[in-house]
This record gives sequence, structure tokens and C-alpha cells, in this order.
Amino acid sequence: MQQSWTKEAILELYHTPLMDLMYRAASVHRTHHDPNTVQVSTLLSIKTGGCPEDCGYCPQAARYHTDLEGNELMSVSQVKAQALRAKASGSSRVCMGAAWRNVKDGPEFDNVLEMVRTINKLDMEVCCTLGMITENQAKRLAEAGLYAYNHNLDTSEDYYKDVISTRAFQDRLDTIENVRKTNVTVCSGGIIGMGESVEDRAGMLVALSSLSPQPESVPINALVPVEGTPLEDQPIIPIWDMIRMIATTRIVMPHTQVRLSAGRTQMSQEGQAMCFFAGANSIFAGDKLLTTPNPDIEQDKALFDLLGLVPQKPFVKHSQPLTVEAADSAWTALGEKPKWTRPGHEIERNKAKERKAP
Ligand code: SF4
Repeated sequence: MQQSWTKEAILELYHTPLMDLMYRAASVHRTHHDPNTVQVSTLLSIKTGGCPEDCGYCPQAARYHTDLEGNELMSVSQVKAQALRAKASGSSRVCMGAAWRNVKDGPEFDNVLEMVRTINKLDMEVCCTLGMITENQAKRLAEAGLYAYNHNLDTSEDYYKDVISTRAFQDRLDTIENVRKTNVTVCSGGIIGMGESVEDRAGMLVALSSLSPQPESVPINALVPVEGTPLEDQPIIPIWDMIRMIATTRIVMPHTQVRLSAGRTQMSQEGQAMCFFAGANSIFAGDKLLTTPNPDIEQDKALFDLLGLVPQKPFVKHSQPLTVEAADSAWTALGEKPKWTRPGHEIERNKAKERKAP
């Protein structure tokens, strides 16, 4: 049975003396996972920039003035070429990200479904992160052969209101619930270093660990402050916070793949090694994470060699989904116009960035 965690219990864990915390996390890790394999995902931005949301950390939000160059939705053949490259370099999963508020039925979503079919046929795990989705859209993705859907909670419910005003925390939970109505696995995590308190980090872990079942993947990102975004002046998070967060995540979600995500360029090899020891068993590979820098593949290969880590094969934890061709689909586009929430509260630092001239 799934253990339930209170915020107080998680805080107590988080503040355990570091050596004890790492030892306990490493023990949990070894009970449930091979400590010498790491799942490697490649994140591909299939549609960059121009997003209508106001996430305070994100250079893809159209309202902030960053140097980001946007692009329209990639073609299926471009995505296939990138997936083949990722596979050749040792990735078992391709995660496709589109800077959308929510998925809209139509030719673009049909193209994404074709991308899912194409990558699944390459025998790679396919993940999408496309914003909010309805149950029908989740079912269409599942039928195309989607392995995982990513939708991060980002932070605690309390602090969420200080970062995003264009959709509610509950919308995030609703999308995850829609994904759970299919066989698609759930990938959901968050970001530390956005000015949140340790209580907020614990609050996020309460929310994630209370999902039943718990997410199969939990990415833990360290904020990469980007000039022009409201969080541009946030200090880089100390590695010790990252290690504590990874270790605590590992203990409260023993079966999940804990992914060391954005912010790895800010970490030393030793720091990353301590994160792996503390229970991280997944990374994003490739020199870019959507829009922010990431160590290049050769650096990661060198680190893996040094530590004796081996990339995990695809479909170790769950079997490969079947792909149903578009012509045989049991689900049709409903053309829904769901009323996702728009809380619209004011976040002064976000507003100030919007007002600033480019
Ligand atoms: S995080 Fe996603 S939803 Fe938020 S602004 Fe960026 S692309 Fe849009």
C-alpha cells in the first residue's frame, strides 16, 4: 500500500543530517532500482515560444522580452530524424514539448499524434508535454502509442499563485487525472530555486506523493534564470538543496524515476554524482532542454564512464504501448472547448516584466 506523507514528515526528512539522508535515500533506491542504470531522455522542442501563459520562469511566454527565437510546429520527418539521432546516442525516450496552454483538436494535434506513432515504431518511449489536455485527447495520445505524459505541478499549491496566474493548480491536477484514465504513465515534478520556501518544496512533494498511483517519473529542475523573465534575478540554487530535494523525493516516492533535469550545467560532476547516489536515476540528454542549456552528450558519456553508469533500455518498467493507425482510431476529435481556469490574480513581478519594453 502507498504510504501517505504529511508536510511535517517530509520537512523532517528534508532536514535530516545530510549523510543520514543520503544513506537512507540510497538504501531506498537500491531496494527498488538498479543503482547503476540511468534512464536517458531527449527533450525536443517541437513548437517553441509564443506561449500565452505567464509562468514566471519561462522564456517561452510571449509576454516576456527574452532573446528566444520561436518556431512553428516541426514536421513529422524532422522529429523522426531527431529521434533517430537521440536513439543512436543512447536515449531510450523522446519527450516532445510544445509551448501551448492546452491542446486544441485539429491538424497540429493530428501531426503530433503522427509523431507519437512514428517514434513508438522506432521502439523508443514517447513522452509529450503539450499543456492541458482533455480525457478524449489523452485517449487519442494513448492510442497513438504514447508512453508518458509530462505535466509538472511546478511548486506547492500555495507558491504556485506567486509564479503563474493564467491557470490554476487544480487545472494541473485535472490534466494528470485525464492522463490516468488511460494506460499512459505520468511524469510530473517541479522546479526549485524560484524563491519558494523549503515548506513549499515539501508541499509540492506532498501533492506529488499523494497522487494515486504516484507519478512514474518525477523531474526535479533547478531554476535556470533567464534574462527577461520575472525570475531572472533569482540566485542559482546551492547543490546541497538539490541533493536534499532529490534524496527526499526518492524516499517519499520509492518506485518513481527521479529525473535530474534543468540546471545540470550549473552542477559539478561531483554534485551530479551525489544526486545519483541520493536516488536520481534519470536525466535529460542533449545540449538543450527546450530552450535552456544542458551538458552535451559527450560530457554525459564521460560522466557515465567515470561513475560506471549504464543507460537504461526502453520499456524496462512498463511494456511498449501498441500503436493504432489514424485510420483505425476508435476516438475522434471532439473539437471540445474546455473551460480551463484562468484565475487572473496579479503577480506584480510578472506584470512588471510584461510592461518592460523589449
Ligand atoms: S512553462 Fe509551458 S505553459 Fe508556461 S509559459 Fe512556458 S511554454 Fe507556456
